[in-house]
Amino acid sequence: MPLLVMKFGGTSVANIDRIRRAAKRVGVEVAKGYDVIVIVSAMAGRTNELVGWVNETSPMYDAREYDAVVSSGENVTAGLMALTLQEMDVPARSWQGWQVPLLTTSAHSAARIEEIPTDNINTKFAEGMKVAVVAGFQGISPEGRITTLGRGGSDTTAVAFAAAFEAERCDIYTDVDGVYTTDPRITDKARKLEKIAFEEMLELASLGAKVLQTRSVELAMRYNVRLRVLSSFEEQSDNAGTLVCAEEDIMESNVVNGIAYSRDEAKMTLISVADRPGIAAAIFSPLSEAGVNVDMIIQNISEEGRTDMTFSCPTDQVARAQKAMHAAKDSGEINFHDLVADTDVAKVSAVGIGMRSQSGVAAKMFETLRDEGINIKVIATSEIKISVLIDRKYMELAVQALHDAFGLDKAA
Ligand code: ADP
Ligand code: ASP
Ligand code: MG
Repeated sequence: MPLLVMKFGGTSVANIDRIRRAAKRVGVEVAKGYDVIVIVSAMAGRTNELVGWVNETSPMYDAREYDAVVSSGENVTAGLMALTLQEMDVPARSWQGWQVPLLTTSAHSAARIEEIPTDNINTKFAEGMKVAVVAGFQGISPEGRITTLGRGGSDTTAVAFAAAFEAERCDIYTDVDGVYTTDPRITDKARKLEKIAFEEMLELASLGAKVLQTRSVELAMRYNVRLRVLSSFEEQSDNAGTLVCAEEDIMESNVVNGIAYSRDEAKMTLISVADRPGIAAAIFSPLSEAGVNVDMIIQNISEEGRTDMTFSCPTDQVARAQKAMHAAKDSGEINFHDLVADTDVAKVSAVGIGMRSQSGVAAKMFETLRDEGINIKVIATSEIKISVLIDRKYMELAVQALHDAFGLDKAA
């Protein structure tokens, strides 16, 4: 039997009525002759509520219990989806991560998928089950504890199942009808892309576009999964949405294809550290051990053997970063005058494969921000992206201005 993976995000299973609508879509594919693996998220808002309860109970929580709590939202929707399908006379069964079993590392709250044995589910398909409904976002560690894959992790569950079961396609149903040139909530000039290259999607996701979890794009690229993003609220059709595909499959493309933003960034500066061999290692090793995800780094000009070191990290990791740096200072590994945290910044990035062969993109980005009177605090570039840190209050304005400046409302 040909097999499809269909993933429904939080807004698509937000209540019983929406679960019914999603189930109808699954029914249409089953009627075409597909076996289907449905991956479900928790109902919209539920995971945030669960995270809130954990933080309220225990601010320095045990990550194993965090996962036990926050994974539970998906259990509810998996069972309800299976029941809804059964009510429609579609033979369906629900699976929690551990029942599959979806095997992961023990990195609680950010676990990586190691393996998905297909036997259990395939046996049920062979017995006549048409739909396996699997709770997204969760798995089981080698120690036998429940793990979660990081926020947005159901996307990764979906792509990993598509790879393991060699699905014909992996459809990600969400509240927008595809991948846009930027978040359509920030500007109504955002344009839906017919296709987007894996590399570009990977950059956009890792720079903050939450429409797909970064890891899901990595997996799709590695296993060549046909990945599609589409709306669960629009009419069903085989070529709806955006196809995430290999660069070679895209004929025309703009130099810049997307603008991403990340709201919750912090800029940390260590004032006056010794400029000597090993200083970067002495700073960034303890940060890494403390689980701080450092993104941009700048070492400023050195004067009389001392320099300032600036880095960015997510705002909710500032306390951890401060603790790690003060501990390193106390133990004599590093020395600095002060650690300044600017928590009112945001990151805005322009992404496009065309940057590899075209110069002038950075200049245009900086001129555009200058014309809006927006000060750039930190700059980072790679082959296909340019990112800047700016004051958070200008974030929307910067996204809109850059979207206009690069002509993203028009196709190539
Ligand atoms: P789900 O609950 O279905 O997983 P998410 O909220 O995780 O949905 O992701 C969908 C959201 O991603 C959209 O509502 C949109 O606001 C946001 N988004 C950010 N950047 C983009 C983009 N470039 N294209 C489409 N959506 C985007
Ligand atoms: N429910 C989880 C979250 O909100 C996983 C997901 O929906 O992808 O992050
Ligand atoms: Mg999501």
